[in-house]
Amino acid sequence: MRILVLNCGSSSVKFAVIDTENKESLSSGLVENIGVNGHFKAKGPEGKAEFHFDCPTHKEAVVEVQKFLTAQKLINTIEAVGHRVVHGGKYIKSEPVTQELIDYIRSIILFAPQHEGAHATGIEVAKEIFPGLPQLAVFDTAFHQTMPRKAFLYGIPYSYYEDLKIRRYGFHGTSHRYVSAEAARILNKKPEELNLITAHLGNGSSCSAIHAGKCVDTTMGFTPLDGLVMGTRSGSLDPAILFFLNKKLGYDIDRLNKLVNKESGLLGLSGLSNDMRTITQKAAEGHTGAQIALEVFCYKLAREIGGITMALPRLDALVFTGGIGENSRVVRETTLENLAILGFKIDHQRNEDNGANSNHIITAEGSTPLAMVVPTNEELLIALDTAEYAKSVK
Ligand code: AMP
Repeated sequence: MRILVLNCGSSSVKFAVIDTENKESLSSGLVENIGVNGHFKAKGPEGKAEFHFDCPTHKEAVVEVQKFLTAQKLINTIEAVGHRVVHGGKYIKSEPVTQELIDYIRSIILFAPQHEGAHATGIEVAKEIFPGLPQLAVFDTAFHQTMPRKAFLYGIPYSYYEDLKIRRYGFHGTSHRYVSAEAARILNKKPEELNLITAHLGNGSSCSAIHAGKCVDTTMGFTPLDGLVMGTRSGSLDPAILFFLNKKLGYDIDRLNKLVNKESGLLGLSGLSNDMRTITQKAAEGHTGAQIALEVFCYKLAREIGGITMALPRLDALVFTGGIGENSRVVRETTLENLAILGFKIDHQRNEDNGANSNHIITAEGSTPLAMVVPTNEELLIALDTAEYAKSVK
């Protein structure tokens, strides 16, 4: 079945057409700068396209995707549309698109201000442009809804959870779900037999503890700011630092928000870059800021992994994914060294090869737990969920 996967961001629309039978991407592209001067870039079986166009809203962007897919002779082969949605609030699994669902997504805009409004608008536009196709919303938070109460509650008065739904939600759920299922497939085990930690390390990063195929704890929280040190996000920090900066430097909410979301993490620690490629290269050349950033990133990563490992009865494998997890030998090696207490024994050649010649495994023979590199594919999982739904309503 051919599925159009749409990911509407605040000023962008990413898309892919995926054939769920052979799991191949037939076409993919990106519209950026919506509201300013739209920039379209895409490829498909008939060729590539790149141009600027008048794009005041998401509607013009999705129409342009439709036109491109028509020119690529794909449009009439698409049988359903799957939407990536960052925050699913109360939803514990992917949900069919209805007006009620769109209204609910709008009602939780404050939970993910940069995403939810754009998702709701994008879904509404797609409903209008593809009225005959079944459509499904796939939430980044849904996979984490199996966490027990003791894992998702914060230590603040319970009424804040009851009245305002303040709790740990977790993000990157589609990626954690995909790579944990892939790891089971690669290891030739049923998901029910495995206890895994999945480390999705990209510009945003999070780890999840997965017992018998279900998430039991995760490092991101009420928002994607919690947990690990990231590209420009601080990760967990003592909230009293914010009070201090308010009193001492007069920082208001917007200034604090910018500090912890845009100026911190690898960028803030290194004073150089949010890009792990630059950080590792400059650290190797002796740049002190880059060395500090790399050190803190890998230490906090190990510390958080150690923390959520206690949610599992034992650990079978640590699975690295995301741009950094799939590519950075240095981050994996340093993190496994920091986690020596858990018994990891790295195989340097396997790590150097990103596990490409050793069935994704980068630890030495006999190492328990295993460490693995498994490339993520969130779009494929969205397409597979959507195909399953589309078949059920045929
Ligand atoms: P993502 O958000 O998953 O696209 O990941 C982006 C992050 O992956 C950036 O910090 C990149 O620097 C990092 N990354 C991509 N390729 C490499 C690489 N070969 N070595 C180290 N980091 C990389």
